[in-house]
Amino acid sequence: MKAEDPQRPDGRFVIGISDIRGKVGAHRAIVEQVEMGEIVLESAHVRSSTMVDLDVDLEVLADGLAMTGTVGAGWTGECRRCLEVVSGNLVATIDEIFEVRHSEGETYRLGYDTVDIEPAVRDTLALNLPMTPLCQENCVGPDPERFPTSSEPGASLEPEAEPARSIDPRWAALSDVTFDGPDAASDR
Ligand SMILES: [Zn+2]
Repeated sequence: MKAEDPQRPDGRFVIGISDIRGKVGAHRAIVEQVEMGEIVLESAHVRSSTMVDLDVDLEVLADGLAMTGTVGAGWTGECRRCLEVVSGNLVATIDEIFEVRHSEGETYRLGYDTVDIEPAVRDTLALNLPMTPLCQENCVGPDPERFPTSSEPGASLEPEAEPARSIDPRWAALSDVTFDGPDAASDR
């Protein structure tokens, strides 16, 4: 059915723009669900044939096309602590530019009568998928001995999960002493 729509030649992510081409300031709203192929990251993935929620506006610029709005999709992954299956719904803000002479990694390709928005939609979803999904905020992991529940916030709920955020041992030591304690002066 959609294949016969001149504005949607393939019924999916290719948008016909011949009627607004060159009309700077003209808009085209796209609010619908479109089926998309899978996106697979190590931490999470969007299944094949997932329906992507598009709520975007295309605006004709003097030298290209701007797309703004939101894109959404369901995703599935593994809890980073207990490895149980986790799923969620991602809604990501999109703000991209399409140009006839696009620059790789910065703007997307704009065709003459059509624009294929799928690469921009995929990239935006992929960039916003959770890198470290959790089944629940206080998931204690598969091993209560190793991941004990604690009443002290932050004391043990983030064991080696994100090394970049871990406290430098020298500073950790400082947190246990008062500044007029015997160790403070030598450590600083
Ligand atoms: Zn978990």
